[in-house]
Amino acid sequence: MSQLRAAAAAAGRGLRRSGGRAAPPAGRSRKGASSRGGAPAPAPAPPPAQHLFSDPAEIEALRGNLLAWYDKCKRDLPWRTLAAAETDADRRAYAVWVSEIMLQQTQVATVIDYYNRWMQKWPTLQALAQASLEEVNELWAGLGYYSRGKRLQEAARKVVSELAGRMPRTAEDLQKLLPGVGRYTAGAIASISYGQATGVVDGNVIRVLCRLRCIGADSSSPAVVDRLWDMANALVDRSRPGDFNQALMELGATVCVPKAPLCGECPVKQHCRARSRVEKELAFASQKLFGKPAPVPDVEDCGVGGCPLCPPAAEPWDSSLGVTNFPRKAAKKQPRAVRTATCVLERRGCHGAPEYLIVQRPSSGLLAGLWEFPSLTLAQDLQEEKQREALADHLQAWTGRPVAARSLRLIGEVIHIFSHIHQTYVVYSLPLDGDVTLDPALSPSRWVTEEEFHASAVSTAMKKVLKAHEKQCGKESSQVGNGSKRKRGAKTQGAGSTCPGTQLSLRAFLQAPTAP
Ligand code: SF4
Repeated sequence: MSQLRAAAAAAGRGLRRSGGRAAPPAGRSRKGASSRGGAPAPAPAPPPAQHLFSDPAEIEALRGNLLAWYDKCKRDLPWRTLAAAETDADRRAYAVWVSEIMLQQTQVATVIDYYNRWMQKWPTLQALAQASLEEVNELWAGLGYYSRGKRLQEAARKVVSELAGRMPRTAEDLQKLLPGVGRYTAGAIASISYGQATGVVDGNVIRVLCRLRCIGADSSSPAVVDRLWDMANALVDRSRPGDFNQALMELGATVCVPKAPLCGECPVKQHCRARSRVEKELAFASQKLFGKPAPVPDVEDCGVGGCPLCPPAAEPWDSSLGVTNFPRKAAKKQPRAVRTATCVLERRGCHGAPEYLIVQRPSSGLLAGLWEFPSLTLAQDLQEEKQREALADHLQAWTGRPVAARSLRLIGEVIHIFSHIHQTYVVYSLPLDGDVTLDPALSPSRWVTEEEFHASAVSTAMKKVLKAHEKQCGKESSQVGNGSKRKRGAKTQGAGSTCPGTQLSLRAFLQAPTAP
């Protein structure tokens, strides 16, 4: 083996594992400089043939197999039905656009209901353009990544006001003219709605292509992303581009899934180099087991030293992972930890049912325009007593009245993970038996019943906060009802209960008399 390594090194090829083989001929030259902006980059070396689709007959066969499978197995989804039935190009593009934006970072099963409600409420661009951001946020509540809905509506307004209601007709123009429409969304809309022969690259496509062509370099690196776009554009079927793109994504979503791909059922398995590599390894292992002489398996990477598409030398192929060796991503950055104190202010409504005070977030930034319980970002490592004081000061600024820190009752902590933030809400409650007016200059506010709360534009995180509050409340209510002594959690402290019949008056919570 050392001889093999020495030979490979001498030939300028990086062999990292046992059983090296001769390098295949280098692949044909493809696109040169990156399409990104700025000064033209030096042309990258052409990728080795192992990572390419260079045989026209194979490309034709792959397209045919994939489309035949899609025709037979595709899921029945509302946006597909709409796109197939709609004859007006603008309405069709709008229907596809909404689905593509909703599907970003969100599961199909979750999106279906939101999509149906959205299209029922705003069936056209014009209808959406007339909606308020509040209405958009209300319908979007629970879907996450709220800026998507906001930007979709802004873009609809732009199409109506600046483009006379006509959607741009190419992927290039869609990306250039519509806010929130990136390269993927533009390609999806143009191929599905207008039949433009342009490829798409999303997470599912990345996975499928990386496996088909044994691409193990960091799939989020610009060099690999550029190659994948080249590949997607070369592969897309010229006569059915929309169906082809959807088929590739469908394959990634239902067959070539991240953890346990169903290779045996895969319509393109005969074109898959990751699978072929696994089969060769298995054949070699079984021959070895039965003591048969076997040629060294062809399990090396492409054999070109420093290949930009092969796995990094520090992370070689792991036989136990099989095809799921691909794709690979650089380690994710740890999400930023944020602590926020939030207070459930509760009062009795006119029918005795509880009402909660919610305030609106600023119109830009995280969760823009959504409603939440009054909240305050905390410094890290702040002690509980200090947290409580900071929140009391914050509420005091809003109410214009002194609020005693001890009147805030600690409910517990609620964790919510946003894409880049590990958010901990430290939840307090403050029951009131009178009204309290918040300074409207600070932020809009309103009292809502529980039903109204859930119908409002509130985030999933806030729903969790209310649930934690209700759970604590219900537990104590039943303990009081049973005549048992109330048990306090180790962290729970503060005055009074928020439960029915035990509310304390507002005055009891305010230290100083009201202003004359
Ligand atoms: Fe994915 Fe397996 Fe199909 Fe290859 S054969 S594309 S790994 S499902």
